[in-house]
Amino acid sequence: MNVIESAEHRDLRAAVARLAGRYGREYFATAVREGRHADELWEEAGKHGYLGVNLPEEYGGGGGGITELALVLEELGAAGCPLLLMVVSPAICGTVIARFGTDEQKRTWLPGLASGTLKMAFGITEPDAGSNSHRLTTTARRDGTDWILNGRKVFISGVDAADATLIVGRTEDAGTGRLKPCLFIVGRDTPGFTRRSIAMELASPEKQFELLLDDVRLPAEALVGDEDAGLLQLFAGLNPERIMTAAFAIGMGRYAVARAVDYARTRQVWDAPIGAHQAVAHPLARSHIELELARLMMYKAAHLYDAGDDAGAGEAANMAKYAAAEAAVRAVDQAVHTLGGNGLTAEYGLASLITAARVARVAPVSREMILNYVSHQTLGLPKSY
Ligand SMILES: Cc1cc2nc3c(=O)[nH]c(=O)nc-3n(C[C@H](O)[C@H](O)[C@H](O)COP(=O)(O)OP(=O)(O)OC[C@H]3O[C@@H](n4cnc5c(N)ncnc54)[C@H](O)[C@@H]3O)c2cc1C
Repeated sequence: MNVIESAEHRDLRAAVARLAGRYGREYFATAVREGRHADELWEEAGKHGYLGVNLPEEYGGGGGGITELALVLEELGAAGCPLLLMVVSPAICGTVIARFGTDEQKRTWLPGLASGTLKMAFGITEPDAGSNSHRLTTTARRDGTDWILNGRKVFISGVDAADATLIVGRTEDAGTGRLKPCLFIVGRDTPGFTRRSIAMELASPEKQFELLLDDVRLPAEALVGDEDAGLLQLFAGLNPERIMTAAFAIGMGRYAVARAVDYARTRQVWDAPIGAHQAVAHPLARSHIELELARLMMYKAAHLYDAGDDAGAGEAANMAKYAAAEAAVRAVDQAVHTLGGNGLTAEYGLASLITAARVARVAPVSREMILNYVSHQTLGLPKSY
């Protein structure tokens, strides 16, 4: 693994940073204020090939991996305009369809997911399951060649903007009667598939939804991949999700530290700018170091994933998501503090990042569940639940 970025990666970063710099935080904040999506940025990023940089070339993608897609999202975040749907549409849904979809599913979805003209949300979380995905109850049963889906989902991002949602349900194993995870593409306007917006205290153009699946009838072609390999297919999508959440958090943390550094260089209330005081400078330096370290772990996870090591990527993706979320939460907190009262003004727009950064601490898997994973899987400690 090369821990030093390649020239291609540096060029990609620079190109994305140029594009994102033309939009910036003000564009993003305006979209939030006006209650609309960041469509212009999404479309332009799609036209340049940035949204589908990980998808296969034969379907209009860039032929790269999650490494490149994570780098794109990090740079958008560092400019103050991260696109949350990149975590689900090209990273989870695009990857799962590219790896396990039928030729027809690939032809139908991948070119649009790559160019950004199609979007797909991802729904796994359920109100009564939460962090314990073994308790998922959204169930698919066969009716002739069709599937009938029933269940509820919660906190699903971007369903209004997405052409379809990749729903994690369960089917009954004919032999054992046990439920096993399966993935279904559910079109936005499918009868029986309804959504209710959840009021969130988050300044984000993407909204979260509660979904109801009430006897949703789907054709056989809605099932993605093999009915008997659901878990493997699911993790093929969940590892990229964790790596992308790390990128999202690192970008946001970089943005916050940069704003604080700008401010601390010039704000002067004694003889020297406040940034000369070590009590102001050191926490920002520490955040910079923590974000760099988290990025190294993100690269490791992305590298393992792109090399086809799903098992190795699992541990690294969890650790990268953990490190990035913690680094981002601390970076944002310190940035807000560095601006004094201005840290809480709408003009500087930093305080809204406090809730946004915390999303990475709880989603897609919480800090505690990662600590549980490392305790049990890595350290071999016994389980309490
Ligand atoms: C902004 C946002 C966007 C989201 N987008 C999506 C999306 O697009 N698709 C999707 O499927 N989901 C999405 N989610 C849902 C997210 O993945 C869940 O919120 C997350 O998995 C946690 O589940 P929960 O909220 O039910 O918390 P719970 O599982 O109820 O957990 C509550 C608290 O208890 C702790 N806890 C639970 N069990 C244990 C344990 N065994 N040991 C120690 N601590 C424990 C948790 O760490 C947490 O702090 C989103 C959430 C947010 C906030």
